[in-house]
Amino acid sequence: MSVTVRVPAKVNLQLGVGPLRDDGYHDLVNVFHAVSLFDEVTVTPGPLAVTVEGASIEGVPAGPDNLAARAALLLAEHLGVPAEASIHIRKEIPVAGGMAGGSADAAAALLGCAELWNPGLPLKTLMDLGGQLGSDVPFALLGGTAVGVGRGEVLTPLPTSGEFHWVFALADGGLSTPAVYAECDRLRAAYEQHAEWPHESPALLAALAEGDAKALGAALTNDLQPAALSLMPALQRTISAGRDFGALGALVSGSGPTCAFLASDAEHAADLAAALRGAGVARAAVHAAGPVPGATVL
Ligand code: ATP
Repeated sequence: MSVTVRVPAKVNLQLGVGPLRDDGYHDLVNVFHAVSLFDEVTVTPGPLAVTVEGASIEGVPAGPDNLAARAALLLAEHLGVPAEASIHIRKEIPVAGGMAGGSADAAAALLGCAELWNPGLPLKTLMDLGGQLGSDVPFALLGGTAVGVGRGEVLTPLPTSGEFHWVFALADGGLSTPAVYAECDRLRAAYEQHAEWPHESPALLAALAEGDAKALGAALTNDLQPAALSLMPALQRTISAGRDFGALGALVSGSGPTCAFLASDAEHAADLAAALRGAGVARAAVHAAGPVPGATVL
């Protein structure tokens, strides 16, 4: 018997990064939005192992270093059962792309293993365990649209209306999340910028609740964007091209280098994706909609 779980990527609609804390972390205000770019994770009883397939999976470890394997081990320890899970990942979420693909696979492995070992385990338990693996894991279980504060792992779902259409421009290569935070700190120090305590954007929350894509496009913000652009200057061309082609909003997704563009509807998104591909400013441009549910057993 095996279990297959489908799990979405995320884009950050607001990523407010506060000053560096003494413990090396930053206080964040992080509005997560789950979009229809999915990995599929299949768990089969057997010796603990991870295999990965996909068009672009460079840098994804097979075996015990994969976050999905760490998730299976953590759940097995929590339940006091042997970690018997042979895990296969079909990857569509860009790797090291700022869309939390590794966290998504960890969330899917938690849910898939729970389904095999202890069906009906509360979502809250899985989210608590997920938070120990990484601050993006609980959101991949929850899905929809939610705001995270603190290190980003305390989540409150946000009301939204309708569907938003996005285009994601995938870059060649990835960016390391810790390197992007370090660059953010370096730039702030170099330019003597005092980081404000981050607050949720009222304009963003209102746009989400009203399903107003134009207002949402104007309210998108990412405090990590200057750092991502500093490490990968070519992204500025991608962002500018998306704006020139009529995106309602454009930003680097999370720590990048994937860039996210908001379209007014599905047709506009298809046109925008084609224009970005034609301009040669991205490795690929894909259309996805949000919000979508979190990790789901198929
Ligand atoms: P985030 O948006 O959460 O900062 P990301 O989307 O930028 O993350 P990931 O795709 O999660 O980045 O990958 C970051 C690194 O994690 C990879 O380069 C890889 O070394 C490691 N990794 C471990 N397990 C996985 C996995 N299942 N899928 C992808 N990467 C993984």
